[in-house]
Amino acid sequence: MMTTNVRPQRGTSSQPPVRLRDVTKHYGAGERTVTALDRLTLDFAAGTMTAVMGPSGSGKSTLLHCAAGIDRPSSGEVLIDGTDLAGLDENALTVLRRERVGFVFQAFNLVSALTAAQNVELPLRLAGSRPAAAEVRAALDAVGLADRQGHRPSELSGGQQQRVAIARAIIARPAVLFADEPTGALDSMASRVVLRLLRDLVDSRGQTVVMVTHDPAAAAYADRVLLLADGRLADELPGGEGAEAIAARTAALEVRA
Ligand code: ADP
Ligand code: MG
Repeated sequence: MMTTNVRPQRGTSSQPPVRLRDVTKHYGAGERTVTALDRLTLDFAAGTMTAVMGPSGSGKSTLLHCAAGIDRPSSGEVLIDGTDLAGLDENALTVLRRERVGFVFQAFNLVSALTAAQNVELPLRLAGSRPAAAEVRAALDAVGLADRQGHRPSELSGGQQQRVAIARAIIARPAVLFADEPTGALDSMASRVVLRLLRDLVDSRGQTVVMVTHDPAAAAYADRVLLLADGRLADELPGGEGAEAIAARTAALEVRA
């Protein structure tokens, strides 16, 4: 499935690809203000997979959107590859997002009229460059779908569609791949394939992955599990804890919340 076998050492890179410093995000104004993130400070180390868990409304998606430069924090700093996003205008932010950040959504978000290959190359084409066919093929090969290049989303299973979305997200070799509940719409078999793929991207390419999930079994694939509550880091588990231990800690958090 994978064509590369370079195995960078975990967390030894000089600077984490993503850093959040004292990040606060408010929505709305006045009495209706919601504090979605509350002075969050975090690093996501290179070549690691982090799972972000927490009750609904705890700020998981907001964290991903701010860390990916999709949304701007109300205060605090977000650095991607050492670049402070606050210093970038909209154009520069768009370029950084396109070149350094991959994002995968629960709903796949593929264009139904386009083939798998066309979906994978779409972000680069929109940016005015035409990736070589070999590059597109390599991205689809990395997700095990080299033989499905000409298929449209409707001709693919949910798990395969999510893998195409992952190929699209990694074709530009981003510094970080964010995934917001990437297995939320998949059955357990398809989920396992997608999770193994994400894990493989970390282990064989040194891809940095940050994944939001509700599923302790999915979080068990990560090197580190963060538990959010009310926009704050409420708890943290190292990798290798297993789904049951993770489930117990999240349950404790739901009770406290
Ligand atoms: P999670 O992904 O953990 O369910 P979110 O990050 O989506 O949580 O939301 C965190 C909080 O911010 C919630 O209270 C939610 O209602 C609020 N929120 C999120 N997005 C918006 C928005 N665009 N406008 C207003 N409030 C929002
Ligand atoms: Mg969410």
